[in-house]
Amino acid sequence: MNINTSFECEICGTITNCRIGMSNRAEQPLGFCCQECGQRIDIVIGGKHAGITGAIELKAQVPFDDETNFVDLHLDFPVYFGKYVMGHTPYLRAVERIGPENIQRHSARLSHLDACYTKFGFFQTLLKFYTREKWVPFKKAIEKQFSGAVISDKMQDRNAALYKTIAEIMWPFAMPGQASNDIEQYMGVQLYLAENHRPAFHAFIDEILETKFLKNLQVACLGIYPRILKAELPLRPALFLDFDAAYQKQTIPMRVSADQFDDFKDLYKDIAEIISRQFVLVAGLNNLLKRGDHNVFKPEIGMTKSGKDQTPKSLHAFTDIPFGQKGDFIDDNWFTFGEQAADNQLRNAIAHFKTDYDDITQKITYYPRKEGMKQEKSEVIYFLDFMQRVLVAYREMNRLHQLIKSLFYYHYLIQTAENTG
Ligand SMILES: [Zn+2]
Repeated sequence: MNINTSFECEICGTITNCRIGMSNRAEQPLGFCCQECGQRIDIVIGGKHAGITGAIELKAQVPFDDETNFVDLHLDFPVYFGKYVMGHTPYLRAVERIGPENIQRHSARLSHLDACYTKFGFFQTLLKFYTREKWVPFKKAIEKQFSGAVISDKMQDRNAALYKTIAEIMWPFAMPGQASNDIEQYMGVQLYLAENHRPAFHAFIDEILETKFLKNLQVACLGIYPRILKAELPLRPALFLDFDAAYQKQTIPMRVSADQFDDFKDLYKDIAEIISRQFVLVAGLNNLLKRGDHNVFKPEIGMTKSGKDQTPKSLHAFTDIPFGQKGDFIDDNWFTFGEQAADNQLRNAIAHFKTDYDDITQKITYYPRKEGMKQEKSEVIYFLDFMQRVLVAYREMNRLHQLIKSLFYYHYLIQTAENTG
Protein backbone atom coordinates (compact mmCIF):
# COMPACT_ATOMS: atom_id res chain seq x y z
CA MET A 1 0.00 0.00 0.00
CA ASN A 2 1.14 3.56 -0.72
CA ILE A 3 0.07 6.90 0.68
CA ASN A 4 0.40 10.11 -1.29
CA THR A 5 0.84 13.19 0.82
CA SER A 6 2.44 16.64 0.76
CA PHE A 7 4.53 18.44 3.35
CA GLU A 8 5.10 22.14 3.74
CA CYS A 9 8.50 22.86 5.27
CA GLU A 10 8.20 24.70 8.59
CA ILE A 11 11.27 26.82 7.85
CA CYS A 12 11.04 27.87 4.22
CA GLY A 13 7.52 26.90 3.20
CA THR A 14 8.67 24.73 0.30
CA ILE A 15 6.29 21.94 -0.54
CA THR A 16 7.52 18.39 -1.05
CA ASN A 17 5.24 15.76 -2.49
CA CYS A 18 5.77 12.43 -0.90
CA ARG A 19 4.74 8.91 -1.69
CA ILE A 20 5.13 6.63 1.28
CA GLY A 21 5.26 2.91 0.69
CA MET A 22 4.09 0.98 3.72
CA SER A 23 6.39 -1.49 5.39
CA ASN A 24 4.91 -4.14 7.71
CA ARG A 25 6.72 -2.83 10.75
CA ALA A 26 4.38 -1.72 13.55
CA GLU A 27 6.27 1.56 13.91
CA GLN A 28 7.87 3.19 10.89
CA PRO A 29 10.11 6.18 11.50
CA LEU A 30 10.81 7.87 8.18
CA GLY A 31 12.54 11.09 7.36
CA PHE A 32 14.08 13.27 4.72
CA CYS A 33 15.41 16.79 4.41
CA CYS A 34 13.78 19.72 2.66
CA GLN A 35 15.69 20.05 -0.59
CA GLU A 36 15.61 23.85 -0.43
CA CYS A 37 16.74 24.60 3.10
CA GLY A 38 17.86 21.28 4.58
CA GLN A 39 15.23 21.28 7.32
CA ARG A 40 14.70 17.81 8.71
CA ILE A 41 11.25 16.40 8.24
CA ASP A 42 10.34 13.37 10.32
CA ILE A 43 7.32 11.20 9.84
CA VAL A 44 6.49 8.37 12.19
CA ILE A 45 3.72 6.03 11.13
CA GLY A 46 2.15 3.76 13.72
CA GLY A 47 3.22 3.13 17.30
CA LYS A 48 3.57 5.45 20.28
CA HIS A 49 5.55 8.14 18.48
CA ALA A 50 3.30 8.58 15.44
CA GLY A 51 3.31 12.13 14.08
CA ILE A 52 5.12 14.70 11.94
CA THR A 53 7.83 17.16 12.92
CA GLY A 54 9.54 19.82 10.84
CA ALA A 55 6.67 20.28 8.42
CA ILE A 56 2.92 20.66 8.12
CA GLU A 57 1.02 18.00 6.27
CA LEU A 58 -1.16 19.26 3.42
CA LYS A 59 -3.85 17.58 1.46
CA ALA A 60 -2.12 16.02 -1.53
CA GLN A 61 -3.06 17.26 -5.00
CA VAL A 62 -2.90 13.99 -6.91
CA PRO A 63 -1.64 13.15 -9.41
CA PHE A 64 1.47 15.09 -8.38
CA ASP A 65 2.79 17.67 -10.83
CA ASP A 66 6.35 17.77 -12.17
CA GLU A 67 7.34 21.16 -10.75
CA THR A 68 7.08 20.31 -7.06
CA ASN A 69 9.90 18.49 -5.24
CA PHE A 70 9.16 14.84 -4.85
CA VAL A 71 10.45 12.03 -2.65
CA ASP A 72 9.62 8.34 -2.46
CA LEU A 73 9.90 6.88 1.02
CA HIS A 74 9.90 3.27 2.07
CA LEU A 75 11.56 1.92 5.18
CA ASP A 76 12.85 -1.19 3.41
CA PHE A 77 14.62 0.40 0.43
CA PRO A 78 17.01 3.27 -0.33
CA VAL A 79 15.32 6.64 -0.90
CA TYR A 80 14.59 8.07 -4.28
CA PHE A 81 14.49 11.80 -4.97
CA GLY A 82 13.47 12.57 -8.50
CA LYS A 83 10.56 12.80 -10.80
CA TYR A 84 7.19 11.50 -9.75
CA VAL A 85 5.88 8.74 -11.98
CA MET A 86 2.41 7.53 -11.17
CA GLY A 87 2.36 3.85 -10.23
CA HIS A 88 6.15 3.63 -10.19
CA THR A 89 6.24 3.01 -6.45
CA PRO A 90 9.33 2.32 -4.33
CA TYR A 91 8.34 -1.33 -4.23
CA LEU A 92 7.91 -1.56 -7.99
CA ARG A 93 11.19 0.23 -8.57
CA ALA A 94 12.91 -2.21 -6.21
CA VAL A 95 11.41 -5.17 -8.10
CA GLU A 96 12.71 -3.70 -11.33
CA ARG A 97 16.17 -3.33 -9.88
CA ILE A 98 16.66 -6.72 -8.26
CA GLY A 99 13.96 -9.00 -9.70
CA PRO A 100 11.01 -10.71 -8.05
CA GLU A 101 13.02 -13.60 -6.57
CA ASN A 102 15.42 -11.33 -4.76
CA ILE A 103 12.56 -9.14 -3.61
CA GLN A 104 11.10 -12.22 -1.97
CA ARG A 105 14.41 -12.91 -0.22
CA HIS A 106 14.71 -9.32 0.93
CA SER A 107 11.10 -9.31 2.13
CA ALA A 108 11.53 -12.60 3.99
CA ARG A 109 14.42 -11.10 5.97
CA LEU A 110 12.48 -7.95 6.82
CA SER A 111 9.32 -9.88 7.73
CA HIS A 112 11.41 -11.82 10.19
CA LEU A 113 12.65 -8.58 11.76
CA ASP A 114 9.12 -7.15 11.79
CA ALA A 115 7.82 -10.27 13.49
CA CYS A 116 10.47 -10.64 16.18
CA TYR A 117 11.62 -7.15 17.04
CA THR A 118 9.64 -7.27 20.29
CA LYS A 119 11.98 -10.14 21.29
CA PHE A 120 15.19 -8.18 20.82
CA GLY A 121 15.18 -7.15 24.50
CA PHE A 122 14.77 -10.74 25.72
CA PHE A 123 17.56 -11.78 23.39
CA GLN A 124 19.92 -9.23 24.87
CA THR A 125 19.04 -10.43 28.38
CA LEU A 126 19.60 -14.03 27.32
CA LEU A 127 23.10 -13.20 26.12
CA LYS A 128 23.81 -11.50 29.45
CA PHE A 129 22.69 -14.61 31.36
CA TYR A 130 25.09 -16.65 29.24
CA THR A 131 28.11 -14.37 29.67
CA ARG A 132 27.47 -14.06 33.43
CA GLU A 133 26.95 -17.81 33.67
CA LYS A 134 23.49 -17.49 35.20
CA TRP A 135 22.51 -20.93 34.02
CA VAL A 136 19.09 -21.27 35.65
CA PRO A 137 17.61 -18.06 34.15
CA PHE A 138 19.46 -18.84 30.91
CA LYS A 139 17.66 -22.17 30.60
CA LYS A 140 14.32 -20.63 31.53
CA ALA A 141 14.67 -17.82 29.00
CA ILE A 142 15.61 -20.24 26.22
CA GLU A 143 12.55 -22.34 26.95
CA LYS A 144 10.08 -19.57 27.64
CA GLN A 145 11.03 -16.89 25.13
CA PHE A 146 12.68 -18.81 22.33
CA SER A 147 10.98 -22.24 22.49
CA GLY A 148 14.42 -23.85 22.60
CA ALA A 149 15.83 -26.42 25.00
CA VAL A 150 18.94 -26.84 27.12
CA ILE A 151 19.03 -30.62 27.35
CA SER A 152 21.68 -30.92 30.07
CA ASP A 153 24.03 -28.90 32.25
CA LYS A 154 26.96 -29.71 30.00
CA MET A 155 28.56 -26.72 28.34
CA GLN A 156 28.14 -28.23 24.88
CA ASP A 157 24.38 -28.36 25.38
CA ARG A 158 24.21 -24.81 26.69
CA ASN A 159 26.24 -23.70 23.67
CA ALA A 160 24.01 -25.64 21.31
CA ALA A 161 20.96 -23.81 22.68
CA LEU A 162 22.74 -20.45 22.61
CA TYR A 163 23.99 -20.72 19.03
CA LYS A 164 20.70 -22.07 17.74
CA THR A 165 18.94 -19.03 19.19
CA ILE A 166 21.50 -16.62 17.76
CA ALA A 167 21.14 -18.20 14.32
CA GLU A 168 17.35 -17.93 14.51
CA ILE A 169 17.29 -14.29 15.54
CA MET A 170 20.16 -13.06 13.40
CA TRP A 171 19.67 -14.90 10.10
CA PRO A 172 18.36 -11.84 8.18
CA PHE A 173 21.82 -10.28 8.49
CA ALA A 174 23.71 -13.33 7.24
CA MET A 175 24.75 -14.05 3.69
CA PRO A 176 22.73 -17.07 2.58
CA GLY A 177 24.78 -20.28 2.51
CA GLN A 178 27.87 -18.74 4.11
CA ALA A 179 27.55 -20.41 7.51
CA SER A 180 27.41 -24.01 6.30
CA ASN A 181 30.44 -23.53 4.01
CA ASP A 182 32.46 -22.04 6.85
CA ILE A 183 31.52 -24.73 9.37
CA GLU A 184 32.53 -27.41 6.90
CA GLN A 185 35.92 -25.77 6.44
CA TYR A 186 36.46 -25.33 10.20
CA MET A 187 35.62 -28.98 10.83
CA GLY A 188 38.01 -30.00 8.07
CA VAL A 189 40.87 -27.98 9.57
CA GLN A 190 40.26 -29.35 13.06
CA LEU A 191 40.05 -32.96 11.92
CA TYR A 192 43.23 -32.57 9.91
CA LEU A 193 45.05 -31.09 12.91
CA ALA A 194 43.65 -33.73 15.27
CA GLU A 195 45.03 -36.43 13.00
CA ASN A 196 48.36 -34.88 12.03
CA HIS A 197 49.42 -32.54 14.83
CA ARG A 198 47.30 -33.64 17.75
CA PRO A 199 49.54 -32.67 20.73
CA ALA A 200 50.43 -29.32 19.14
CA PHE A 201 46.78 -28.59 18.33
CA HIS A 202 45.76 -29.40 21.89
CA ALA A 203 48.56 -27.19 23.22
CA PHE A 204 47.15 -24.33 21.13
CA ILE A 205 43.65 -24.86 22.52
CA ASP A 206 45.02 -25.13 26.06
CA GLU A 207 46.79 -21.80 25.66
CA ILE A 208 43.79 -19.89 24.32
CA LEU A 209 41.63 -21.37 27.08
CA GLU A 210 44.04 -20.83 29.95
CA THR A 211 44.68 -17.22 28.99
CA LYS A 212 40.87 -16.77 28.62
CA PHE A 213 41.60 -15.41 25.15
CA LEU A 214 38.92 -17.59 23.55
CA LYS A 215 36.33 -16.90 26.24
CA ASN A 216 36.89 -13.14 26.20
CA LEU A 217 36.63 -13.12 22.44
CA GLN A 218 33.39 -15.06 22.57
CA VAL A 219 31.93 -12.60 25.09
CA ALA A 220 32.99 -9.68 22.87
CA CYS A 221 31.26 -11.26 19.87
CA LEU A 222 28.08 -11.86 21.85
CA GLY A 223 28.02 -8.17 22.75
CA ILE A 224 27.75 -7.18 19.09
CA TYR A 225 24.46 -8.95 18.25
CA PRO A 226 22.14 -6.67 20.25
CA ARG A 227 23.90 -3.63 18.76
CA ILE A 228 23.29 -4.91 15.23
CA LEU A 229 19.64 -5.37 16.13
CA LYS A 230 19.52 -1.81 17.43
CA ALA A 231 20.83 -0.69 14.04
CA GLU A 232 18.15 -2.74 12.31
CA LEU A 233 16.36 0.21 10.69
CA PRO A 234 19.32 1.89 8.98
CA LEU A 235 20.61 -1.57 8.04
CA ARG A 236 17.46 -2.37 6.02
CA PRO A 237 18.46 -0.40 2.92
CA ALA A 238 22.00 -1.80 3.31
CA LEU A 239 20.55 -5.32 3.22
CA PHE A 240 18.82 -4.35 0.00
CA LEU A 241 22.22 -3.67 -1.55
CA ASP A 242 23.06 -7.40 -1.27
CA PHE A 243 20.92 -7.78 -4.35
CA ASP A 244 21.60 -4.48 -6.06
CA ALA A 245 25.08 -4.59 -7.52
CA ALA A 246 24.53 -1.62 -9.82
CA TYR A 247 23.37 0.65 -7.06
CA GLN A 248 24.00 4.37 -7.35
CA LYS A 249 24.75 6.71 -4.47
CA GLN A 250 21.54 7.06 -2.58
CA THR A 251 20.34 8.03 0.83
CA ILE A 252 18.38 6.10 3.38
CA PRO A 253 14.73 6.82 4.11
CA MET A 254 15.14 7.89 7.71
CA ARG A 255 16.90 10.70 9.43
CA VAL A 256 19.99 9.66 11.33
CA SER A 257 21.28 12.21 13.79
CA ALA A 258 24.95 12.86 14.45
CA ASP A 259 24.55 11.18 17.86
CA GLN A 260 23.18 8.07 16.27
CA PHE A 261 25.99 8.13 13.74
CA ASP A 262 28.47 8.16 16.62
CA ASP A 263 26.88 4.96 17.96
CA PHE A 264 27.23 3.25 14.59
CA LYS A 265 30.77 4.51 14.26
CA ASP A 266 31.64 2.93 17.61
CA LEU A 267 29.91 -0.25 16.53
CA TYR A 268 32.04 -0.41 13.39
CA LYS A 269 35.19 0.30 15.36
CA ASP A 270 34.38 -2.38 17.96
CA ILE A 271 33.61 -4.99 15.31
CA ALA A 272 36.89 -4.22 13.55
CA GLU A 273 38.71 -4.55 16.86
CA ILE A 274 37.17 -8.00 17.40
CA ILE A 275 38.12 -9.10 13.88
CA SER A 276 41.68 -8.03 14.62
CA ARG A 277 41.72 -10.35 17.66
CA GLN A 278 40.00 -13.14 15.75
CA PHE A 279 42.89 -12.85 13.30
CA VAL A 280 45.04 -14.39 16.05
CA LEU A 281 43.08 -17.63 15.89
CA VAL A 282 43.41 -17.69 12.10
CA ALA A 283 47.17 -17.15 12.38
CA GLY A 284 47.59 -19.80 15.10
CA LEU A 285 45.76 -22.38 13.01
CA ASN A 286 47.75 -21.36 9.94
CA ASN A 287 51.02 -21.94 11.80
CA LEU A 288 49.76 -25.33 12.98
CA LEU A 289 48.71 -26.33 9.48
CA LYS A 290 51.98 -25.25 7.89
CA ARG A 291 54.53 -25.93 10.62
CA GLY A 292 52.83 -27.97 13.34
CA ASP A 293 53.28 -25.28 15.99
CA HIS A 294 50.91 -22.36 16.59
CA ASN A 295 53.79 -20.13 17.68
CA VAL A 296 55.98 -20.59 14.62
CA PHE A 297 55.49 -18.10 11.81
CA LYS A 298 57.12 -18.59 8.42
CA PRO A 299 60.83 -17.76 8.92
CA GLU A 300 61.75 -14.25 7.71
CA ILE A 301 58.20 -13.45 6.58
CA GLY A 302 58.60 -10.17 8.42
CA MET A 303 61.97 -9.26 6.87
CA THR A 304 62.03 -5.60 5.90
CA LYS A 305 63.92 -4.10 2.97
CA SER A 306 66.50 -2.74 5.38
CA GLY A 307 67.14 -6.25 6.69
CA LYS A 308 65.28 -6.01 9.97
CA ASP A 309 63.37 -9.18 10.80
CA GLN A 310 59.97 -8.31 12.29
CA THR A 311 58.58 -11.82 12.14
CA PRO A 312 56.59 -12.37 15.37
CA LYS A 313 58.37 -14.67 17.81
CA SER A 314 55.14 -16.16 19.07
CA LEU A 315 51.38 -15.97 18.63
CA HIS A 316 51.29 -13.83 21.75
CA ALA A 317 53.61 -11.30 20.07
CA PHE A 318 51.42 -11.37 16.97
CA THR A 319 48.37 -10.31 19.02
CA ASP A 320 49.71 -6.80 19.50
CA ILE A 321 50.50 -6.13 15.85
CA PRO A 322 48.24 -3.47 14.33
CA PHE A 323 45.23 -4.76 12.42
CA GLY A 324 46.38 -3.54 9.02
CA GLN A 325 49.70 -5.38 9.25
CA LYS A 326 48.54 -8.71 10.66
CA GLY A 327 47.81 -10.19 7.23
CA ASP A 328 51.43 -9.65 6.15
CA PHE A 329 52.65 -12.28 8.60
CA ILE A 330 50.34 -15.07 7.50
CA ASP A 331 51.73 -17.20 4.69
CA ASP A 332 49.22 -18.66 2.24
CA ASN A 333 46.29 -18.09 4.60
CA TRP A 334 43.83 -21.00 4.89
CA PHE A 335 41.03 -18.53 5.69
CA THR A 336 39.72 -16.23 3.00
CA PHE A 337 38.59 -12.88 4.30
CA GLY A 338 35.56 -11.32 2.65
CA GLU A 339 36.00 -8.33 0.39
CA GLN A 340 36.07 -4.99 2.23
CA ALA A 341 35.77 -6.82 5.52
CA ALA A 342 38.92 -5.25 6.74
CA ASP A 343 38.98 -1.84 5.10
CA ASN A 344 41.89 -0.55 7.03
CA GLN A 345 41.68 3.04 5.81
CA LEU A 346 38.13 3.53 6.95
CA ARG A 347 38.73 1.61 10.15
CA ASN A 348 41.81 3.66 10.97
CA ALA A 349 40.07 6.90 10.22
CA ILE A 350 37.21 5.94 12.46
CA ALA A 351 39.38 4.57 15.23
CA HIS A 352 41.99 7.33 15.37
CA PHE A 353 41.09 10.36 13.32
CA LYS A 354 38.31 12.75 12.69
CA THR A 355 35.15 11.97 10.81
CA ASP A 356 32.49 14.51 9.96
CA TYR A 357 28.93 13.47 9.45
CA ASP A 358 26.42 15.75 7.76
CA ASP A 359 22.99 14.52 8.72
CA ILE A 360 21.33 16.55 5.99
CA THR A 361 23.22 15.14 3.02
CA GLN A 362 24.05 11.87 4.87
CA LYS A 363 27.66 12.30 3.75
CA ILE A 364 30.56 11.17 5.91
CA THR A 365 33.91 12.83 5.38
CA TYR A 366 36.91 11.01 6.79
CA TYR A 367 40.65 11.42 6.73
CA PRO A 368 42.35 8.09 6.10
CA ARG A 369 46.00 9.08 6.27
CA LYS A 370 48.20 10.29 9.01
CA GLU A 371 49.53 13.64 7.95
CA GLY A 372 50.56 15.45 11.06
CA MET A 373 48.44 18.34 12.25
CA LYS A 374 46.79 18.98 8.94
CA GLN A 375 44.12 16.66 7.73
CA GLU A 376 43.71 17.60 4.14
CA LYS A 377 43.18 14.50 2.10
CA SER A 378 39.64 13.51 2.78
CA GLU A 379 37.40 10.79 1.46
CA VAL A 380 33.64 10.85 1.36
CA ILE A 381 31.17 8.03 1.69
CA TYR A 382 27.43 8.06 2.06
CA PHE A 383 25.84 6.92 5.26
CA LEU A 384 24.24 4.05 3.35
CA ASP A 385 27.68 2.88 2.15
CA PHE A 386 28.92 3.13 5.67
CA MET A 387 26.07 0.97 6.98
CA GLN A 388 26.93 -1.53 4.28
CA ARG A 389 30.50 -1.60 5.63
CA VAL A 390 29.10 -2.21 9.11
CA LEU A 391 27.10 -5.11 7.71
CA VAL A 392 30.10 -6.58 5.86
CA ALA A 393 32.30 -6.28 8.95
CA TYR A 394 29.59 -7.79 11.14
CA ARG A 395 29.33 -10.78 8.80
CA GLU A 396 33.06 -11.35 8.95
CA MET A 397 33.01 -11.17 12.73
CA ASN A 398 30.13 -13.62 12.79
CA ARG A 399 31.93 -16.03 10.44
CA LEU A 400 34.91 -16.07 12.76
CA HIS A 401 32.65 -16.36 15.79
CA GLN A 402 31.60 -19.70 14.29
CA LEU A 403 35.27 -20.67 14.42
CA ILE A 404 35.32 -19.79 18.13
CA LYS A 405 32.19 -21.87 18.59
CA SER A 406 33.72 -24.87 16.84
CA LEU A 407 36.96 -24.63 18.85
CA PHE A 408 34.86 -24.76 22.03
CA TYR A 409 33.01 -27.78 20.70
CA TYR A 410 36.27 -29.49 19.90
CA HIS A 411 37.44 -28.82 23.44
CA TYR A 412 34.20 -30.07 25.07
CA LEU A 413 33.53 -33.06 22.88
CA ILE A 414 36.96 -34.38 21.94
CA GLN A 415 39.73 -32.88 24.06
CA THR A 416 37.94 -33.07 27.43
CA ALA A 417 36.56 -36.54 26.72
CA GLU A 418 40.08 -37.69 25.93
CA ASN A 419 41.54 -36.23 29.13
CA THR A 420 38.88 -37.72 31.39
CA GLY A 421 38.40 -40.99 29.51
ZN1 LIG B 1 12.70 24.07 3.72
